Formats: sequence, structure tokens, C-alpha cells
Amino acid sequence: MYQSQLFTKTLKQAPRDEKSTNAQLLIRAGFIDKLMAGVYSYLPLGFLVLKKIEEIIRQEMNRIGGQEIFLPALHPKNNWQQTKRWECPEMFKLKNRKGKEFSLGWTHEEIITPLARKFISSHKDLPVFIYQIQNKFRDELRAKSGLLRGVEFLMKDLYSFHQDEKGLDEYYEKVKGAYLKIFQRCGLKKETFLTLASGGTFSKYSHELQTVTSAGEDTVYLCQKCRLAINREIIKEENFTCPKCGNKKLEIKKTIEVGNIFKLKDRFSRPFNLVFKDKDGKEKVVFMGCYGIGLGRLMGTIAEVYHDNSGIAWPGEVAPFRVHLISLTGAKKESERLYQDLQKQNVEVLYDDRDDKSAGEKFADADLIGIPLRIVASERTLQKNCVEIKKRSEQKIRLIKIKEIIKWLA
Ligand code: ATP
Ligand code: MG
Repeated sequence: MYQSQLFTKTLKQAPRDEKSTNAQLLIRAGFIDKLMAGVYSYLPLGFLVLKKIEEIIRQEMNRIGGQEIFLPALHPKNNWQQTKRWECPEMFKLKNRKGKEFSLGWTHEEIITPLARKFISSHKDLPVFIYQIQNKFRDELRAKSGLLRGVEFLMKDLYSFHQDEKGLDEYYEKVKGAYLKIFQRCGLKKETFLTLASGGTFSKYSHELQTVTSAGEDTVYLCQKCRLAINREIIKEENFTCPKCGNKKLEIKKTIEVGNIFKLKDRFSRPFNLVFKDKDGKEKVVFMGCYGIGLGRLMGTIAEVYHDNSGIAWPGEVAPFRVHLISLTGAKKESERLYQDLQKQNVEVLYDDRDDKSAGEKFADADLIGIPLRIVASERTLQKNCVEIKKRSEQKIRLIKIKEIIKWLA
């Protein structure tokens, strides 16, 4: 895309009330805009990143048998009364003009469980795995961490339905694997740890995926030996050792919870009477699991992990474009030709064709936006039939023959 036609422009300063690094950088670079605390618009560059993250998650969910649906965000009160969660303090409630009460979905167990009841009646209908990617609404008390804590935010939530605990346990392990794959593809493999956490009111433990970053709002005890972390919330003793390998030297780290997986067991199937007939015709209650990932939080986390003083440095798979092509004085014609060639080869390019910006301004914008590869064409490089190539994450600049670029990129 032509940068001269981009809807957004970079900003010198982030809004003064925006304290978090992720939002400051993402707003300055034109990825997002703040409407109010915890509520952000995704602008062209930001929406590209969000869609890349979404596609990674979708692929990994489909790979473990997930079927995608899209549930309503507006919920009737009755569903929430059945599970005694109508009083949840995070839930936004509203009334229609006749005084009837509704809520905005902060999670979807109360909707998916009665829905599943319409299609599950026999052991032949199980197991089944249903997910959606949709906005959630939560009245968060402290929405001051940019994309890390939204009041309205996009979440992928997967729900699994099983005949028994064994089936649930097996699938739960599969989801763990899929989650690790997702965070690996988002560039967060090294920083992300499977973490033992509270099971809430559902079960003894759950697992979180926690990413180490100083911007984190959680604290974990980290075992580098077996890569297990334990959320401080569930630690009671002072001399805590790793429950998996016995390691006594645990590191205390700030982390952000990028994903959470739960064994719900019969917590929701019972109140909604979600039952099935087993092979012998006996009625049994369905076992459930639920598994969430916040997409915006994930994007904010990537910005927290991958940035320097000049801006963001996106990992390849989630970057808005693969190449940032910059045309300097006297190189317009060659740059345009290269842009067309790259487009033909399906290389995603942001082409800085702006005539009213200096080289310095263009480089500063490129660093702020953070596309992995910068290609610069100038009068000087063209004299050698070359362009300059530089990775955002490296200092090294090299000259490459224009003819060889497509090959080099492949
Ligand atoms: P937290 O303890 O950080 O509030 P949570 O335990 O309430 O998180 P879940 O209800 O398990 O989170 O939601 C599943 C996933 O959704 C989380 O792992 C996180 O990635 C994301 N998420 C939760 N709350 C928010 C939020 N306010 N903004 C953005 N993403 C969120
Ligand atoms: Mg929460």
C-alpha cells in the first residue's frame, strides 16, 4: 500500500493520559486510537496485525478440531440467573425501553451451554469443540494498561464437550500444545510459560500462559529448569519449590496472562441440564472445558516485548507488512517499478512514496511502525543498480542488486 494514502499519520507524542508503553507506541505509530480508558479503535495498520494474530489462532484451533461460530454479545438476564452469575461485578448490565434486563457478554458459558444442549443428546455427539472470536465487555477497575486490559476487547474462547473426565483431560493437553504453538508463532516462545494457577470456583488448578514482561500485572515463580511457572496467587509457603522438578531456585518475574485454560467439568452442564445417553443408554452429565486468549492483549504484549527506543519491531508472522519500501529523492521511478514487482510476487509491502518527507522523517517512521524489513532506494544506490536492505531488529545495512531482491526475499 502507498504510505501517502494511508489513513493515519505517525504522531510525535502519545496522548498525555496514556501511560502504558504498548498503547503509547501503538498510538504514535497509528495502529490504534484511544476512544476512552480501555476502549480502542483498530486503525488500518493495527487491524492488519490483529487479523494476522486472529488467523494464527484460527488455524491452530481448527487443527485441534475446533469449529468456529459467532455468538451474540447481548445476553438475556435469565441465562445468567441460572448459574447465579447475574451479580458478577465485572458484567455490564442494561435495560431496554420496557425495562427488561440484559447484559453484555464478558464470557460465554451461559450462552454456549444451553446452545450445546440443542445438539448434544447421545454419546455419538461427543466430543465436540466450539470456538468463537468476539468482543467481550468487562467493567475493569484498572483499565490503564493499554491493550493489555480492555473494557471492550477481542477474545478467542473455545469450549469443549466430553463424555467423561478422561476425554476432557486428553483434550486439555491438546489445547496446551496448540496454545504454545500460537505464542511461538506470535514470536513469544522464549518469554511464555505454562503456569499453574487457581482453578477459580471450577477446579483446583487451571493453567495460564504467562509472558514475561516488565509491563506484566501478574507475578509468577519461574522454574527455568522445566519451564513451569506458578502464579504467586496460589503460593502460600515462603520456601516454595517447583512442584514438577523440585528445583529450589525459582525466579520471581512480572508477567502478563495471555491465555487461560480451565477444566469446567460439570459447573455449567449441571445448571443447564446438559446431559447425554451413554452406550448403555444411561443418562450422564457432559464434561466441559473452556480456553481463552485475548487478541488485543496478545498484540499489546508483543509490542511490550518487541520494542526499543525508536519504536516497535514486529515478529515476522504478525507484522502488518513484510517489507517497508522507502523511496528517497531521485528514485521514484525505480521504486514504483520495484513496488509493482513485489506486489506481483505477493510480498506485502508498505511503500513510502511521500514527496513531502525527508529521509530522516521516513526512517524515523519506519522504525516506529516496525515492519521487519526496510528497503531503501535512492539516487546513490541506484547508481550501483542496488537498494539498501536493513532488518528492523539489526543495525547492519547491506546493498543488494535490484534484480536479486525477489530471489533474496524467497
Ligand atoms: P485477568 O486476571 O488478567 O483479568 P482473567 O482471568 O479475567 O484475566 P479470563 O477470564 O481467563 O481472564 O480470559 C481469558 C483471556 O482473555 C485471558 O487469558 C486474557 O488473554 C484475555 N483477557 C482477559 N481480560 C482481558 C482484558 N480486560 N483485556 C484484554 N484481554 C483480556
Ligand atoms: Mg479479569
